[in-house]
Amino acid sequence: MTAAEAAAGTARPPRIVKTPGALAPVPHLLDHAATCAAFRWDDARALLDGLPAGGLNIAHEAVDRHVAHNRGGKTAIRWLGKSGARREFSYADLAAGTSRFANALGALGVQPGERVFVLMGRLPELYLAVLGALKARCVVSPLFSAFGPEPIATRCEMGDARVLVTTPELYQRKVKGLRERLPGLKHVILVGDAVDEAGTVRWADVVDPASLDFTIGATDPETMSLLHFTSGTTGRPKGAIHVHEAVVMHAMTARYALDLHDDDVFWCTADPGWVTGTSYGIVAPLVSGVTNVVVEAEFDAPTWYSVLQDERVTVWYTAPTAIRMMMRLGADSLRGYDLSALRFMASVGEPLNPEAVWWGLDAFGKTFHDNWWQTETGGIMVSNYAAMDIKPGSMGKPLPGITAAIARRTSEGRVELIDAPDTEGELVLKTPWPSMMRGYLHEEERYRKCFADGWYFTGDLAKRDADGYYWFVGRADDVIKSAGHLIGPFEVESALMEHPAVAEAGVIGIPDPTVGEVVKAYVALKPGFEPSEALNRELLGHARKRLGAAVAPKAIEFRSNLPKTRSGKIMRRLLKARELGLPEGDLSTLESDEKR
Ligand code: AMP
Repeated sequence: MTAAEAAAGTARPPRIVKTPGALAPVPHLLDHAATCAAFRWDDARALLDGLPAGGLNIAHEAVDRHVAHNRGGKTAIRWLGKSGARREFSYADLAAGTSRFANALGALGVQPGERVFVLMGRLPELYLAVLGALKARCVVSPLFSAFGPEPIATRCEMGDARVLVTTPELYQRKVKGLRERLPGLKHVILVGDAVDEAGTVRWADVVDPASLDFTIGATDPETMSLLHFTSGTTGRPKGAIHVHEAVVMHAMTARYALDLHDDDVFWCTADPGWVTGTSYGIVAPLVSGVTNVVVEAEFDAPTWYSVLQDERVTVWYTAPTAIRMMMRLGADSLRGYDLSALRFMASVGEPLNPEAVWWGLDAFGKTFHDNWWQTETGGIMVSNYAAMDIKPGSMGKPLPGITAAIARRTSEGRVELIDAPDTEGELVLKTPWPSMMRGYLHEEERYRKCFADGWYFTGDLAKRDADGYYWFVGRADDVIKSAGHLIGPFEVESALMEHPAVAEAGVIGIPDPTVGEVVKAYVALKPGFEPSEALNRELLGHARKRLGAAVAPKAIEFRSNLPKTRSGKIMRRLLKARELGLPEGDLSTLESDEKR
């Protein structure tokens, strides 16, 4: 409820009541409690076929089995290019294209288990490469195309990239200069009208001529499938390891959380460089056999409304930043569009303000269904459902098969569950579930620390109310969420420190009404350098060049010294408290400091 509404006496009710009987088609999850009580993981597994050769392979479930079941003619991907181009790929086309890519990897000598990185916008080849590499039992790591050279290099190094699929433009701007740092990167496949570049091969030369026949080898469900990098407070990015078994979760959540039915036209607006764009922009819709709309262009409200209208999108999965950008334009901006096909709207990635839920109802005539998950969980864990009342501002209730709780860690490292309703604690999940990460690459200890007594600690603070609805409170650590992207302050600080003028850097997220948080850096300069407008601009430019627009700070402030603990760690929390005028909290570990 906004202050204006309260003042006007138009307070919103605490719930949006659903009438399940009135919904068509009948939602897969009609009664949350009953479905959870009856749920068995074997039932979710039964949504899938398994591989003829044995085991479970994501690409077989997402692509080939639809052809085997005579559904090959159905449109799997409808691709809408930036400049108006439009391409349809049937499940049979996708089966052929992904087999070609798998065969091309084989011809290059790439072995199962080796790492295939993709760095490009939402081009059709991205989808063929991801699924083709999974067919070849390689490990796929999608990178966000707006990353600068530094995040690309760090991730390729950490992940032992053997193959990189990218575009000539991204190669020249971001990768070419890194090749010496990446001796293990043996093959770079350039998509599109590639120029001749030493050390690269062209998609047209290696993939297009490859055979359309490929038989996926036996795949143990525990075989590594995807490597998704995410950010922590300290140190390098974390490489979350996922396995083919995760597809069980994708199939199940597509059914219960997104309520996908056979005839749906689905659109997930996330980029596959982030986990939502892979799990729900590629795997989940294709596993469900629906038509998956892929839009190459970035956000622009009229374009998005036209996509919803012209493609007759029925299920739409988007994010709070985009919803808030639409809100800024007002419900009037929607007038004249025929959105009658749209049946179900979901949102993920950041807190969805109650105002945004109410706005959705006013503007679209239906509610956004918020859901919660993270890179490490591999799939949706807590959700609002088509047939369950919504409490605007709440992330909903756990998926069938998922046990969530609010907890705190005791000083002995044990779990203390908090049963009292409306009490803040860390959101924890009972292990295991099929899409749970199986490790952080090369970081056993960091992985181990996420678990205690059979519970996974998510790093998010939340509350559960007396009706079992979960409410997001904030992060337990210092990571920043900007426009839905998780950004590690350490990565930004490290890039700033590479500049000769910078002695120290502390990076925090500042609340922003549209993108959630914006990245802000505090910088102390080395002797001989003086703060100036010109240096500020130079540092912003340096960070942007190294990190890319999605990660670089939007503002820099000079300080003569930054608050640090006795062990020399910059106290980001204190920087933030001071920036926002909040209580400074426990300062017992504070060593050096100069307030402003
Ligand atoms: P990522 O691993 O990049 O997908 O980021 C996961 C993090 O995003 C979570 O740990 C939360 O902090 C945040 N997040 C995801 N979904 C939601 C949501 N529905 N409400 C609030 N925060 C969310």
